[in-house]
Amino acid sequence: MKNTMLIFCLCTCLFACQKNTKQNKIAIVEELLEEPTNPAATEIWRPKPPIVTVDGANKIPSDAIVLFDGTNFNEWTSSIDSTVVNWILNSDKSMTVKNKTGDIQTKKNFGSVQLHIEWRSSKEIRANGQNRSNSGVFLQNRYEVQILDNNNNDTYVNGQVGSIYKQAIPLAKASSKTGNWNSYDIIYHTPNFDMKGNVSKQATITLLHNGVLIQDHVTIKGTTEYIGWPKNNTHGKAPIKLQDHGDNSGVSYRNIWVREL
Ligand code: MG
Repeated sequence: MKNTMLIFCLCTCLFACQKNTKQNKIAIVEELLEEPTNPAATEIWRPKPPIVTVDGANKIPSDAIVLFDGTNFNEWTSSIDSTVVNWILNSDKSMTVKNKTGDIQTKKNFGSVQLHIEWRSSKEIRANGQNRSNSGVFLQNRYEVQILDNNNNDTYVNGQVGSIYKQAIPLAKASSKTGNWNSYDIIYHTPNFDMKGNVSKQATITLLHNGVLIQDHVTIKGTTEYIGWPKNNTHGKAPIKLQDHGDNSGVSYRNIWVREL
């Protein structure tokens, strides 16, 4: 009889505890759904974002990797044969495409990035359409942001300056005068691929041309082909590439830095 009473008491306690736990959970959920009345309830204090400072004439963030400061090609290599860069290093801390010497690319591989790059078309007008100061910034070695002197120089709009070549027409043409410096600020997020090699998340890009938003979180459909549709082969991190279009473009670059995202 004594044992029976003990078991009954334990069962009653256990049932009561389970009931209380369930009630507590309901109370917590209700509390979360309720509009907070205390400002501290919606404050988050940790983790603190890292501190980044922006100093100097070129306004380079302290956590950026400087890819070109005008003094050397140390961060770059020829895309043709991975040897030294044959482009022209200028006394004004810029570099100029040396015609038909091939594209150049970073020695480092990158994924998602914030990229700052300044470029200048040739002062001298040498050709028309796609052959006037044509170059380009290739993200992950395969997705081209077009560089072109489009001032009084029509071409197809999905291949004009600031386009994602043959994929995304820019929202505006924000070019400087021919022969003057431009800036591109790019926010790029890589595509993801599943185990079967299919794209599970497409790449996206945002582009400011001279501070003007011209590509607004645009989806990249695949490689930016001159002929044919975009391709989507699996890839990982890859170099940033600058184009020698082979038409005596005379395009120059300066002040290139990147922040890995
Ligand atoms: Mg190009």
